[in-house]
Amino acid sequence: MSNGTDRTCSLEANLESCTCSYSGCVRKGRCCECLTYHWRNRQLPGCLFPPDIERTYDRSVERFVQVYGGGGAR
Ligand code: SF4
Repeated sequence: MSNGTDRTCSLEANLESCTCSYSGCVRKGRCCECLTYHWRNRQLPGCLFPPDIERTYDRSVERFVQVYGGGGAR
């Protein structure tokens, strides 16, 4: 019986909603690993970038700020 605090991730659901265009990545759908990997390199997951920027594979924090730093809207 669930106490309301149990959480499990669904790899299948994550893969369905993942917007990263790098299909060969072993972390695809494993969002915690994706975030850890990129943050270690001062980057952010591809899903946080608009599609045209995501496709450049520049996942740097600097690029993120450049895109959204002006108030969020592009
Ligand atoms: S954002 Fe990076 S780690 Fe995450 S699925 Fe795409 S290439 Fe892999």
